[in-house]
Amino acid sequence: MIRTRFAPSPNGSLHLGHAWAAIVAHDLARLHGGEFLLRIEDIDGTRSRAGLVDQFLADLEWLGLGWAGEVTFQSARLDSYAAAGERLKVMGLLYPCHCTRAEVAAAAHTIGPDGPVYPGTCRGRALDPESAAWRIDMARAMKLAGPLSWTDELAGEQRAHPDLFGDVVLLRKDAPASYHLAVTLDDSAQDITLVTRGADLFAATHVHRLLQALLGLAQPKWHHHALLVDMDGKKLAKRRGSSALADLRHAGEDGLALAGALRAHRFPAGISLGLGVGAPP
Ligand code: GLU
Repeated sequence: MIRTRFAPSPNGSLHLGHAWAAIVAHDLARLHGGEFLLRIEDIDGTRSRAGLVDQFLADLEWLGLGWAGEVTFQSARLDSYAAAGERLKVMGLLYPCHCTRAEVAAAAHTIGPDGPVYPGTCRGRALDPESAAWRIDMARAMKLAGPLSWTDELAGEQRAHPDLFGDVVLLRKDAPASYHLAVTLDDSAQDITLVTRGADLFAATHVHRLLQALLGLAQPKWHHHALLVDMDGKKLAKRRGSSALADLRHAGEDGLALAGALRAHRFPAGISLGLGVGAPP
């Protein structure tokens, strides 16, 4: 049975771009008689706002996007992230790093999908693991995993290139796990068979595929959909004026009609489907 999920982070209100992503995940599950799940990605303690969760649930109900089962929260799964981190450490694939963002940016030779690529400054150094971030030794991990591929329903078969990210952080200093590790473990734990998300996260899947191989997790399929973009081709963002769904709901707008319009690609003026040029991943 096909299972999809919508996985918003409670660090700002949902807007039309989120509605679109949720509709894609919901409708693909429905189309194949499967299940659509809801997961709250709330482990970024510095940005997460618990009060937004009730708003998200009300927004989705208003749009007519019912989900199956209980809502799950990443904050309840910290032990799994820590256990997977331990496993990767025991496999000799992680190393501690104390570099700041600014130091990484200054030392980087290349720019990857997430910004400056870490040049491996701390690799091979005997550093104090206390309050360090843990990075994956990418070359070593790829050697261990061997060549990998994955399938996107729209873009077809892809050769995995996690090396685009360099030695990416898997266990963060300021949060229990990185997005890459948490999302990979959660999609596996929830038996998600089709991971849908915006095309701006296409490259992240290279890293997720590698983590699945290293941790012996089943491989889903992916569906990276086009994003709602503004006139400049940029991904919609609340800070650039895209209305919050909650505001539309409180103003008495009809959520089912809005969902219907999005499904029919009838977008508000100045908004269209695109790949989110220049959008942060
Ligand atoms: N929490 C992520 C976001 O809000 C979702 C990422 C994903 O679907 O993998 O962008």
